Amino acid sequence: MMETLFKNFNPVPEKTRTETCRSCIHRERWHFGSKIIQYCGVLSSNRTNNKKLKITCNKTACDFYKPEGTEND
Ligand code: SF4
Repeated sequence: MMETLFKNFNPVPEKTRTETCRSCIHRERWHFGSKIIQYCGVLSSNRTNNKKLKITCNKTACDFYKPEGTEND
């Protein structure tokens, strides 16, 4: 039974994205005194005061990723 159940099952390949938020045009750097916190200009969050998602440079890019140098529509 189990052999026939998974016989034709082909798992979806894992996303192998190499881009990070570092090179995305939506990355925003906010200065708080000497501290810099980075936010996403597209994705929102209920956990931050400005309602923007807090990110880091090395975060794997999401589907809204646009590389620097491209136009923002
Ligand atoms: S979370 Fe997505 S849209 Fe936001 S800065 Fe990173 S890659 Fe860009």
